[in-house]
Amino acid sequence: MADNAAGLWETPAAEALRFRPGMQIADLDSRSTPGFVSSKIDGKRALHERGTVLSSLQEKLYANGRSGDNRSVLLVLQGMDTAGKGGMVRHVIGHVDPQGVDHVAFGVPTDEEKRHHYLWRVTKALPRGGQLGVFDRSHYEDVLVVRVHGFVPETVWRGRYDEINQFEKELLGTGTTLVKVAMFVSLDEQKSRLQKRLERPDKYWKYNPGDVTERKLWPAYQDAYQAMLDKTSTEDAPWYVVPCDRKWYSRIAVTELLIDAFERLRLEWPEPDFDVDTEKRRLAES
Ligand code: AMP
Ligand code: MG
Repeated sequence: MADNAAGLWETPAAEALRFRPGMQIADLDSRSTPGFVSSKIDGKRALHERGTVLSSLQEKLYANGRSGDNRSVLLVLQGMDTAGKGGMVRHVIGHVDPQGVDHVAFGVPTDEEKRHHYLWRVTKALPRGGQLGVFDRSHYEDVLVVRVHGFVPETVWRGRYDEINQFEKELLGTGTTLVKVAMFVSLDEQKSRLQKRLERPDKYWKYNPGDVTERKLWPAYQDAYQAMLDKTSTEDAPWYVVPCDRKWYSRIAVTELLIDAFERLRLEWPEPDFDVDTEKRRLAES
């Protein structure tokens, strides 16, 4: 990594967090800070500095998109309620120019969405060339909540892992770089975050009684997340497993994952489609 946030990481986030075959999320410590060797204060400071780096990379992608480049970056955020998906959008994506961001949050499918294949609404929401797409939940809900609740028969959701791999392969082929982030919060931390939502009037809106119901299904969700990682983490579209009990860590980590993805695109500023000297002369004479 070029400018690795001035030595705050001993292992780059993209390496430390990449899902490796055999990795068990049951063994994951959600309070851990893989790869990061400095303090919370340094982490918070780095978030702003690295957010600026992310912003200029994103601007370059946007500029290229305006010149017809079809490449895009798609951040997929998956995680249980309270894992911090919304905060990730506000505090990480918040650093970049909103014009260049295509943000979509996926909830319970609408009646119209239910009439279509589960990838229909996802396809419609894909980022255009030059854009940074952000999915707050995604097509993976169709092998997570849908699997846990048995909304479709097992034979159906089992077939979806291959289908999703194929879908993402085609996506990569059209110039989209995927950054898939699985956010893990512990059961205890989730409880305290839900408690806060019940204690503060400014947080009531985030509270959903259904979240407590889902807590009872925690082991089934763990299994579904493990299967998702085992079956859909591929060479070109790997999952990154991010411990999220410490918000400052998860935010700087995802910032670094995005910077890494953008840097791999080796973006340059687009060439002008006019003669600069001629235009300078014309402007001076005008
Ligand atoms: P939130 O992210 O808190 O706004 O909640 C969105 C809700 O939509 C979560 O409970 C998800 O499990 C649910 N959801 C998202 N996608 C699907 C889906 N494909 N089928 C059923 N529920 C879904
Ligand atoms: Mg919620």
